[in-house]
Amino acid sequence: MPGSLYAWYSLYDLDVLADREAVLSGEIELRQLTRLREILHSDRGSIQTSLKFHRHAHSAVTVELTFTTAVELICQRCLEPLVQEVSEQVSLTLLEPGSMDGEIEKQNEAVVLKDGKLNPAALLEDELILSLPIIPRHTKIDECGSMAHVVQALAPEEHSGIAGPPLRNN
Ligand SMILES: [Zn+2]
Repeated sequence: MPGSLYAWYSLYDLDVLADREAVLSGEIELRQLTRLREILHSDRGSIQTSLKFHRHAHSAVTVELTFTTAVELICQRCLEPLVQEVSEQVSLTLLEPGSMDGEIEKQNEAVVLKDGKLNPAALLEDELILSLPIIPRHTKIDECGSMAHVVQALAPEEHSGIAGPPLRNN
């Protein structure tokens, strides 16, 4: 059986992996993940990942997916690049299409296999995209580029003119 992160694994393959408690691990270049690339400032770098397969008592195959990477995003406050460190571990129950009524281990998230097959690289890409912040920003404004400081310097002025109800001078 090939141990590639790019291979498509059938339900039969996944059963074998689970029974052997197999581990697939390796490194994927960010530039190979085309959907992810669209949201990155730069596609330099790679992801270290591992998938540990096992089976729960009630037959569903589960995979422990772990991945670590650092990606470059655009800060939405200063529009300059920022490095986002990502380190995640998720436990996913793999389901055949149409088997949603089966008993799923409640503590796990479930993934329905398209056409009954699993591609580890595609699963990793999905989970990595989900783990990224919707609005990336430098943690502290001091880390932001000059644009954010200009905006912050201007912003208080907008509010200083707000007054209470007009006073009557009798
Ligand atoms: Zn920033």
